[in-house]
Amino acid sequence: MDFAVQDKTHDESRQGEALVIEPGKKSDRKLYIESYGCAMNFSDSEIVASILADNGFETTGDYNDADVIFINTCSIRENAEQRVRNRLKEFTIAKVKKPDLVVGVLGCMAERLKAKFLEEEKLVDVVVGPDAYRDLPNLIGKVDDGQKAVNVLLSREETYADINPVRLNSNGINAFVSIMRGCDNMCSFCVVPFTRGRERSREPQSIVKECTDLFNQGYREVTLLGQNVDSYKWKTEDGDQKSDVGSQESEDVVNFANLLELVAQIHPDLRIRFSTSHPKDITDEVLYTMKKYDNICNNIHLPVQSGNSRVLELMNRTYDREWYINRIDAIRRIIPECGISTDVITGFCSETDEEHKETLSMMDYVKYDYAYMFMYSERPGTLAAKRYADDIPEAVKSARLKEVVTKQQQYSYERLQAQLGKVQRVLIEGFSKKSDKDYSGRNDQNAMVVFPVGERYKPGQYVNVLVDRTTTATLIGTVVD
Ligand code: SAM
Ligand code: SF4
Repeated sequence: MDFAVQDKTHDESRQGEALVIEPGKKSDRKLYIESYGCAMNFSDSEIVASILADNGFETTGDYNDADVIFINTCSIRENAEQRVRNRLKEFTIAKVKKPDLVVGVLGCMAERLKAKFLEEEKLVDVVVGPDAYRDLPNLIGKVDDGQKAVNVLLSREETYADINPVRLNSNGINAFVSIMRGCDNMCSFCVVPFTRGRERSREPQSIVKECTDLFNQGYREVTLLGQNVDSYKWKTEDGDQKSDVGSQESEDVVNFANLLELVAQIHPDLRIRFSTSHPKDITDEVLYTMKKYDNICNNIHLPVQSGNSRVLELMNRTYDREWYINRIDAIRRIIPECGISTDVITGFCSETDEEHKETLSMMDYVKYDYAYMFMYSERPGTLAAKRYADDIPEAVKSARLKEVVTKQQQYSYERLQAQLGKVQRVLIEGFSKKSDKDYSGRNDQNAMVVFPVGERYKPGQYVNVLVDRTTTATLIGTVVD
């Protein structure tokens, strides 16, 4: 059971979404690709589509029409994997109808299960890990020749920096840009370091170029993605890249604050968001950079996981309750209007009721704008699976989750209520989900704002909206000059 209160980069409504390039380029073979999990996977699917487009594929939104079906998978919790297995079953009839159909599994689940996947799911022809996408045309060729194909090699260098991703299902306004891959943190509950390999940062000029190109194409918001953006680090050979950027670090290193500044300087109308920040690494330098540039959105996703120091230690998060509170205080001091969101896990190994209450009291302290909340799900091979018993009964995990969700709903609503009567700067993203008489977009703090369509403004433009109502998750208002 997972709960999300409000949207962020893991968008529940997009799980399993078929991703297509618009308008479709005509070619001989058709790729159907759907994605699960976090924004990084959706971003990776764009890299995959780009590699295959260069090799003669067009995308389709109908798998019955496809020559190749790819599922880009997530392993973070057991239910994420189960969802993929159920979905695979639905492709069986398509394969019977079209025996040449290639079915491939990409991403974290492919990396975790490797060749075992081919034994467990007979339908699957190709298994490809997140660092091996350049090999896809070759692997598809092997399947065309009647073999099964696996490439799950992890790399210490691959960042796909030179690949200009095609944008899938794009509204032409917001885009994800990967700035790093992998993770070195080894949180004890987490499978990511095993499925996505060692942390590596992408060369900053390729990031700036990608964001500049997006801006020139009409995009107005980029979300910089990494598992731990605050540990972004690029050693320049000559120090050129950051010549006009102030830094507390030595001259030949571009850190995350420097990168933010480089992207912020592309154009004041290009909004910048980023995810995910890590409490152990987020620096005051990053906060001051956010304060300095109006186009860096005032929103920080700072996963707490637990409010109790003993549990945090077992989780190997390398910060304690006091440290986390210190970082929250720094955010509130430097950027008082900053939105803060989080991830919470309930029922981690040996968590007591008292320790769970400390998570609730942390929520009372921070009053998060929104949160992603999960019951602990033991993942094979992780440090926690090796070291600690998964000893909290499901009913207790679930009851604790319910308490956390109830509290968050209350704070999410309060945070929205606090915006009543205030004017929000909103980037118009398109029609609202419910009606084409309304536009929707997000404010600086990432809250969804809905307001009537008007002749003087259109998607991709910024408007000032006076909020006069709220629902439980949305601000509603009218455009003011
Ligand atoms: N790198 C980010 C971070 O450290 O916050 C996000 C990693 S993960 C893709 C997103 C969230 O999934 C985590 O913050 C955590 O709350 C949750 N998660 C990871 N492993 C989990 C597990 N085994 N059981 C339940 N939730 C888990
Ligand atoms: Fe997983 Fe921790 Fe890395 Fe996030 S920081 S991806 S939770 S190991």
